[in-house]
Amino acid sequence: MIDPFSYDDAMTPDGYRCSECGADGVKLWREFIIAKTNPLLCAVCVSKWAIETGRHDEPVIFDDEGFQYLGIIRTRFIGDFVPAIPTEDGRRFSGPYIIKDEAMSWWMGFKTYKRDE
Ligand SMILES: [Zn+2]
Repeated sequence: MIDPFSYDDAMTPDGYRCSECGADGVKLWREFIIAKTNPLLCAVCVSKWAIETGRHDEPVIFDDEGFQYLGIIRTRFIGDFVPAIPTEDGRRFSGPYIIKDEAMSWWMGFKTYKRDE
C-alpha cells in the first residue's frame, strides 16, 4: 500500500519502496500487468530481475531520466516492467502510455540510483 501524497512532494510516500532491497527515494518500476502482489523494483533490482528471467544478458543501466538503451531505442520499459507512477491517492498506477505531466515530473524528480547521492 502506498500512502496518499501529492505530486508536489519531493519525497517518495510511505510504501513506495523497492520490494527486494527496500530502497526508497528512488525511481521504481512495476509490472505492466497489475496484480495485488506485484513488486515494485528499483533500477538495480529490476535489472537483476531482467537477467534472472532471461530478458537481458547483461545488467541494464538506466540514465538519470530512467531511460535505458535497446540498440538505438531509448525506453523506460524493461521486460514486463514500466515506470511505477502511482496516482496521488496511492491506490492505482498511471499509464504507462498516458501519464500526466505532473506525474512524470514527480517520478523524474527522484534519483535513478541511490549511489548517486
Ligand atoms: Zn531494489
